[in-house]
Amino acid sequence: MDETGEFRAINIFFDVDHTLVYSNQHANMLRPGAHDVMQRLQEAGHGVYVWSAGGQDYVERTVAMHGLGHLVDGCFDKDPRVQPKPDFIIDDDWYLVEKYGGHCVSQYKEVNAEDRELHEALERLVELGHL
Ligand SMILES: [Mg+2]
Repeated sequence: MDETGEFRAINIFFDVDHTLVYSNQHANMLRPGAHDVMQRLQEAGHGVYVWSAGGQDYVERTVAMHGLGHLVDGCFDKDPRVQPKPDFIIDDDWYLVEKYGGHCVSQYKEVNAEDRELHEALERLVELGHL
């Protein structure tokens, strides 16, 4: 619920590199919590999107590779004119989080099964009344 006490669906955009995945020349690893967090957002009725400066094809490949397709409403290039308009972004780029609003995660740069940052983004959405 938002400040008026009414539920309002929002558009939540996940960045790819160093936010959802860590990749190197050998592998592409999904950050812990990605499935759970996206599922929770989807069940709440929010729009779940993934975007990247690497382009739409790259996003679609990454989403498919990690079996996230059924949880994602759209894949996009990171274009400021993107539709629908992002309401809340989850990104490792602080500048973009300042610009769009959202939650800044630390850069996911090595496999870490203990990483909780995507869940922390979810907690932020709870605090804001979106969950
Ligand atoms: Mg990034």
